[in-house]
Amino acid sequence: MTINLLGSYRNGNYDVTIFSDGTKIRENDLDFFEAQFPENIDLKITDYCDVNCAFCHENSTVHGEHSILDAEFFRTLRPYTELAIGGGNPLSHPELIPFLINLKKSKILANLTVNQVHFEKHYNLLKHLMDKELIRGLGVSLVNPTDKFISMVQSLDNLIIHTINGIISKNQISKLYDKNLKVLILGYKNIRRGKDYYSESVDQNIEMMYNLLKYGLTEHFEIVSFDNLALNQLRVKSLISKSLWDEFYMGDDGQHTMYIDLVKREFSKSSTCFERHPLMDDIDNMFAVVKTIK
Ligand code: SF4
Repeated sequence: MTINLLGSYRNGNYDVTIFSDGTKIRENDLDFFEAQFPENIDLKITDYCDVNCAFCHENSTVHGEHSILDAEFFRTLRPYTELAIGGGNPLSHPELIPFLINLKKSKILANLTVNQVHFEKHYNLLKHLMDKELIRGLGVSLVNPTDKFISMVQSLDNLIIHTINGIISKNQISKLYDKNLKVLILGYKNIRRGKDYYSESVDQNIEMMYNLLKYGLTEHFEIVSFDNLALNQLRVKSLISKSLWDEFYMGDDGQHTMYIDLVKREFSKSSTCFERHPLMDDIDNMFAVVKTIK
């Protein structure tokens, strides 16, 4: 895969450079980075989903509503801002493709997260969207690591398998070993259906994952990354050197990132934070509020 420079911009007191493989570099002469606007927005565009996962922390169902994909704040996003678009099932949104076309015109970098079920069903569409650079990165939530799924994953660049800490079993993760795959481990969200589903077996799976990490899980993958919730649940800081942590930790929720629920037209610092505020017209104003959320 050829790695190209996608773009660079100034944000608050630092410069950001982004490459086509998703690598991001922040630079300044200070010992801290203070953002004026979010580098990355977790954007929920629909509550509709037909997979009905028992642990779904968004409570997505076939009765879930789609958002209106037009809001004033989109016009205030800077080029190379990244959007992590999800749902529900974002592929079910009837306006998704025109939305992605508009984002590309504005040089906004769209990443999409879909479930394995929808990935397999809509593989050709997703490949087309990636080939046309309407999607820069694709996250696929793992259901079952079959050989067919793994070969489909291997056929696309910039695809990351999403796994949920506490849900994925040792047997499932070991089937992904040594195949040059990229994996993102997401923390278990103990809210909504995630709260109903929670049991001792979730904790046992979390402990199992901690032990796998302790004894070299990362050696079996091209990349292993974590969201902040998983970093905390898996005590990753205790497993690596301070210099590695300082090099790779991307900051607390709300420092460079934020969450927008476009269905309910509200925002917060993350999807698990219940201090929500009504959508505003300007991203800088919303981000200023996000920074005040404890
Ligand atoms: S977890 Fe994802 S795939 Fe499962 S019901 Fe929720 S939105 Fe759908």
